[in-house]
Amino acid sequence: MHEGEETSEAGRPRGHELSATGVTVAYEGVDVVHDASMTLKPGEVTVLVGPNGSGKSTLLRTLARLQRPRTATLVIDGDTDGLALSPREFSRHVALLTQGRPTPSGLTVRDVVEFGRYPHRGRWGKADPGGRAAVDRALAMTGVEDLAERGAEHLSGGQLQRVWLAGCLAQETGVLLLDEPTNHLDLRYQVELLDLIRDLADDHGIAVGAVLHDLDQAAAIADRILLLDEGRVIADGDPEDVLTPERLTGTYGIHIEVDSDPLTGRLRTRAIGRHHSRSERLSTTS
Ligand code: ADP
Repeated sequence: MHEGEETSEAGRPRGHELSATGVTVAYEGVDVVHDASMTLKPGEVTVLVGPNGSGKSTLLRTLARLQRPRTATLVIDGDTDGLALSPREFSRHVALLTQGRPTPSGLTVRDVVEFGRYPHRGRWGKADPGGRAAVDRALAMTGVEDLAERGAEHLSGGQLQRVWLAGCLAQETGVLLLDEPTNHLDLRYQVELLDLIRDLADDHGIAVGAVLHDLDQAAAIADRILLLDEGRVIADGDPEDVLTPERLTGTYGIHIEVDSDPLTGRLRTRAIGRHHSRSERLSTTS
């Protein structure tokens, strides 16, 4: 692949396929991800779900080369060894929105989003002809263009989350990885962000991989869901095939029912806790 080849004629990124096989990752000598494989395809949204500590973040970070695996093969578009690319080359293909990024101080929102352009700048930090337009586009797509000249330290958690996402979009990669992107967002921005993720895949052909906690949100936007349990991918496929009541109940250790939302036709899950039934509650308090 050559410099500049990643963007289409319209100046927007085109999707890349990112395939990971045999991913095993250890922390302090203990394996926490075991021989996992996943493929992100252009125009598809793949969502990783699973209980806390099941290895979702670790797997996603390994795909972004932020975590060193014990074993793994990363292949871009079927023939490029992702682990052999320079960090700068790799960053032109793959962007990751990490969790819990710090609040930048002394920088405007535009400055923060411009950081996303680093893999496209010339060797000495100059010459990025498409940079200004890419940053403006990213600010608009995430709804933070009105904040562009504001100091980033004055933003709310939700605004800052959208600014960091804008930085990833300004990177104009064909693969976008998102680790719990709806964290800190109120309901409106959660829904808007999920819509934006779907648009990125549908309209720009981007290959999206995301970790989400909310199973209903996962089912609503995913083409494909990977369910992780104790570091292993225990199911990989269409949301309806993966999110079955038996499998979810076994994996999460709580009774989970699954049905179809009559309004949207989407798959809907319900975890049944001890205080779930209103009629039961009323009968115990009366
Ligand atoms: P998830 O994203 O599904 O919550 P993680 O990938 O964060 O899971 O964690 C998988 C396992 O690795 C957990 O047991 C967690 O405690 C452990 N782990 C995660 N990060 C570290 C770390 N930096 N050092 C040691 N253990 C870690």
